[in-house]
Amino acid sequence: MSMVIKRLIKAFKSKKKYPNRFLKFYHENKKRLLKQRKSTYHLKQKKGICVRCNDLAVKGIVFCKYHQQKQKLYNKKARE
Ligand SMILES: [Zn+2]
Repeated sequence: MSMVIKRLIKAFKSKKKYPNRFLKFYHENKKRLLKQRKSTYHLKQKKGICVRCNDLAVKGIVFCKYHQQKQKLYNKKARE
């Protein structure tokens, strides 16, 4: 998340007022947006489709070969 957004959220929380219409939309639809994202994830998981792209996922995981590799690199970096 960018610093600008973080600052806007902080401003929103302290003033209880939306600094702009984008944030207003986000907060008013937050639950629905998150739910939507979650259901897409589970749908893809169920169908064996990579959750990052629309390629076929490797059996047992939620990523395709390409994104599995990317995730491995990411995890490696995160541990270092
Ligand atoms: Zn993928």
